[in-house]
Order: sequence, then C-alpha cells, then structure tokens
Amino acid sequence: MNNLVEIKNLFVEYTQKSEINGRIEKVHAVNGLDLDIKKGEIFAIAGESGCGKSTLAKAVMKLIKIKSGEINIFSSKSENFYQSVQMIFQNPYSSLNPKMKIGQILSEPLEINTKLKKEEILRIVEQKLSDVGLDKSCLNLYPHEFSGGQRQRIAIARALILNPEFIIADEPVSALDVSIQAQIINLLKDLKNNFNLTFLFISHDLGVIQYISDRIGIMYLGEIVEIGNTEEIFSDPKHPYTKALLSAVPKLHDENRIKKVELEGELPSVKNLPSGCKFHTRCPYAMEICKNKNPEFTDFSPSHKGKCFLY
Ligand code: SF4
Repeated sequence: MNNLVEIKNLFVEYTQKSEINGRIEKVHAVNGLDLDIKKGEIFAIAGESGCGKSTLAKAVMKLIKIKSGEINIFSSKSENFYQSVQMIFQNPYSSLNPKMKIGQILSEPLEINTKLKKEEILRIVEQKLSDVGLDKSCLNLYPHEFSGGQRQRIAIARALILNPEFIIADEPVSALDVSIQAQIINLLKDLKNNFNLTFLFISHDLGVIQYISDRIGIMYLGEIVEIGNTEEIFSDPKHPYTKALLSAVPKLHDENRIKKVELEGELPSVKNLPSGCKFHTRCPYAMEICKNKNPEFTDFSPSHKGKCFLY
C-alpha cells in the first residue's frame, strides 16, 4: 500500500502566557515525530491528553506553523490542499455556524471552491446528507435543531462535501453520548470503505481505537513511541507506556492478559521536557541509560516497532 502521508522529524513549538506568573513560555508540543499513513487506512493516535495529539492534527491541517521537519501529503488533488484534506472536530456544535441553515453550511464550500450551478450543488448536498444517514428535510433547519449525534453527522457531511482523500478526525465521538458513539464510529468506517478515504483518527479512548483503526501510533510527549497493527498493539504491546495505557483500561487489560504496568507520577510538563527517553521519569523499568539517551526504533515485526532500551 502506498503512503498518503509522510511525516519526518516534526517539531512544533508555540508560546503561551503562564497562568502562574504571566510570563511567556515555550511549549514543546511535538518533538521529533516520524509517521507514515498508508492510503486507505484508519491510522489512530493514542495517548494521554496533553501528549500533543491535537497539535499534531492542527499541524497536518496547516492550522499552526511547524518549527522544523516535513509533512508530505501525496494527494491526487494537490492544487487545493483543503479539497484533499478535511477535519472533523470533537464538538460538532462549535464547528457548525449556528446562524446558518444546514443547506447553506453544506453548499458554501462548493460555492467557494467550484463553479457548479445551484441545482448541481443541491444535488451533491442531498447526496452527502444521504451518505451520512440524513435526508433533505434537514436543509432548512439550524444546527441547534438537531441532537449531538445528528450534528456530528452534519459536520461529517460538510467534511466530505469536496470529496477529500484524507480526513483528520480529532476526538470525533468523545463529546457524544456513549449510545451514539457506536453509530458515528460505524458511519466513519462505512464512509472509509465506500469512498476509499484515509483517516488520521485521534482519540484518548482505546476501546474506540481498537474497534475502528487498522494501525496505531502511541504518542508520548510529542513523540511516537510505538507503532503497529491494531492487533499487534493490543495483543503484544512492547513499550512500557503502551502497556501502562492498556493496563489502565481493565476490560482491555483482562482481554489481552498483558502484564500490568502502573504509571508512576504525572505527565511531565511540555514546557520542560525530560532528557533521554521522555518516559524515564514515569517508567518502572527505567535504567541509567534512559536518562541520557533517547532510544531509536527497534523492529518487533515488519509492521511493529517501538522506542525502548529494553529491546
Ligand atoms: Fe522505560 Fe528506558 Fe524503555 Fe524509556 S527506554 S520506556 S525509560 S525502559
């Protein structure tokens, strides 16, 4: 399978005002991240909140500047970035303009980016609504007239309206009721298969990730520490951080019978990153070398690799 996305040695930093003393401080959000996403797969990024997942999504989406490194997207529609790459956000309510009717929200990208006639635009809008399980009775309604799940369907329809190849979904179900989450996850899976889409799927919920993804990258303090097929990550996790994440979800832990790893302490501040392996301050297996040197990737199988001196 060809790569649709290749990210090499990516660093993203930004500044923010300290809540304690008002000083401007540097946040090291993404720190030397390498990642390939294959055409037609759902690649999930998992990690605690604050690990840099959303910053990575924004960097790929060109919503924030990168400090260094490369993000290459090999799209067949390279003339217009936002025709080939779209994003689905966590909160569908804040991502839909409350003053616009659904018909306007969905037609606007076509009016701006194409020269299609009104009737053709209406036909596409109705088709996209149908693709996400809604119908044309929605066209004259406002976002507040829908439930959370329906609003997320509308946001997905808008993301699909220009027929993108690559969708970044940043916690797309975490604001929804548990009963609705499965419907939206199944919808995303169906859309991926029906339209040959590629997804970067970001979530803190390992249950959701296990269900939807083909491959997984485990992220810790702005770095990918383990990558593998979903099956490999869940049945044979190698990195102590991956084991700790799985151990924290009792159902997943019991199902996979992995040795329990307890996380020590809190996630360190991204303003003051640990030296060496960034996980050494919380790792129960940390050795002297871990404090000074950041491990390279070790291959565990052709599709599974991780960064840890234990291997
Ligand atoms: Fe733990 Fe050392 Fe492996 Fe880092 S390199 S995960 S500190 S054992």
